[in-house]
Amino acid sequence: MVARAARATDLADLDAAVSDCSACPRLVRWREEVARTRRAAFRDQEYWGRPVPGYGTADARIAILGLAPAAHGGNRTGRIFTGDRSGDVLFAALHRAGLANQPTSVASDDGLTLRDLRIFSAVRCAPPDNKPTPDERDTCAPWLHREVTLIRPTLRVALGAFAWAAWWPVLRQVYGQRPPSPRPAFGHGAHWSATGAPELLGCYHVSQQNTFTGRLTPEMLDDVFGRAKQLARVD
Ligand code: SF4
Repeated sequence: MVARAARATDLADLDAAVSDCSACPRLVRWREEVARTRRAAFRDQEYWGRPVPGYGTADARIAILGLAPAAHGGNRTGRIFTGDRSGDVLFAALHRAGLANQPTSVASDDGLTLRDLRIFSAVRCAPPDNKPTPDERDTCAPWLHREVTLIRPTLRVALGAFAWAAWWPVLRQVYGQRPPSPRPAFGHGAHWSATGAPELLGCYHVSQQNTFTGRLTPEMLDDVFGRAKQLARVD
């Protein structure tokens, strides 16, 4: 798997390769069981039930790095943050920011396009309880590292809650830089920068736990995406 990730010559090749990965037995069992049993509301749909590749432009200047696909969202539709409540909040904000052509993301053939943005996750298969193990995160890391390597020529800003922790190995693997020690503290709007690497912005996750409780509001998302555009020099 590590060798296959390293051989990917472009994002299309990487996306095809990651979609066939079965390196984590627990996650393979889970993603396929969810696809087989399905949620009642989606009983008539064919679930994707495989690893979910990244989505967006190959020359992105902004990247959003999430944790993992949702069992009945990305694992159902085959596109990251698509078909669940988190995606509803995220894409509404991206549309307001001018980074998405439409405010919704409901299916892989719904016409969504992104501008100057690539979205991907640190772990590509839906995990039980949204909690991958550290071993699963590390096993999946070569896909993430290759994806960042392929968009590295243009990438200026990465943001996300999970990105904050997942970014430091990327910094070493892709940019050849020693991660800062101690690690900068995560927070919504937290900002880290160093010469020769993309800047990092912290953003609370668009989970229902955060958006329903008001911990993360549309205005807070607008602020962080506005900041990301400014840092990445995206109009
Ligand atoms: S989580 Fe990553 S490494 Fe594990 S099976 Fe899925 S794609 Fe492969």
